[in-house]
Amino acid sequence: MHPQQLIKGLANDPGSNSCFLNSAVQLLWHQELFQTGLNQLTSHLCSGHRSCVFCALKVVFTQLRFSDRPTLDAGVLRSALAAQFSDRFQLGEMDDSAECLEQILGRLHFHLVRQQQPQQQCTAGHCITHRRFGMDIQEERACPRCGFVQPGPRFTQLTHYASAGALLSQLRHMGIGRANPSPDVFGLGLRKVAGAGDLRACPKCGGSGGGGCLLLRRKLLSRPDLLCLGLVWDSDRPSGADLGDLLANVGSTVTFG
Ligand SMILES: [Zn+2]
Ligand SMILES: [Zn+2]
Ligand SMILES: [Zn+2]
Repeated sequence: MHPQQLIKGLANDPGSNSCFLNSAVQLLWHQELFQTGLNQLTSHLCSGHRSCVFCALKVVFTQLRFSDRPTLDAGVLRSALAAQFSDRFQLGEMDDSAECLEQILGRLHFHLVRQQQPQQQCTAGHCITHRRFGMDIQEERACPRCGFVQPGPRFTQLTHYASAGALLSQLRHMGIGRANPSPDVFGLGLRKVAGAGDLRACPKCGGSGGGGCLLLRRKLLSRPDLLCLGLVWDSDRPSGADLGDLLANVGSTVTFG
């Protein structure tokens, strides 16, 4: 079989606990826009042999592309992460995959733009982290009864987190599983649950119910190529039916209104 057709991943030998890292690497590797973007980049602020996350990810991607073995050495990337984060990601220790992904992306921004993660949107055209994943968000709260708008913080995020249970309830309410649900049912469901459950009384009209509460709205001010979505279950053992229903209805494109 040609090396590029082989299904490959990072080795996870007993005691190495590298499954969280493999999960983060697979997400990045399977995004062609990210993969080709990283392939074209070379110039960066290198933190040196065995401690540069940019160089280590390049090594892993080269192995994923050309190796004729299905399991690849995770050591170079694990060593670089362990060197960069003295209190996290140490060799042999289990960690969180979603946080690992964010930290890898944060380090790539650092190596490419030569500064720490910005509070607001990074505008560097060559920053693969923010061009691919960066969501510049303006939050505000609006009263549907009197029109009052209260500006909120502006911030950058790389992953949009949503409650899996709330999203699934919303999707079921909107007709998944029945004939002819809306083609963008997933995107609409995401928008509906984004501010749900976070209602505050309106300071202008005083309304706190029946349409007088402040609804949380988030405006997306940037146009990332990819939307990275983190779905958080409120149980560590969601049912097979719930998992299956949600996975079957994840949309691959989302329309922003
Ligand atoms: Zn480097
Ligand atoms: Zn950046
Ligand atoms: Zn009001």
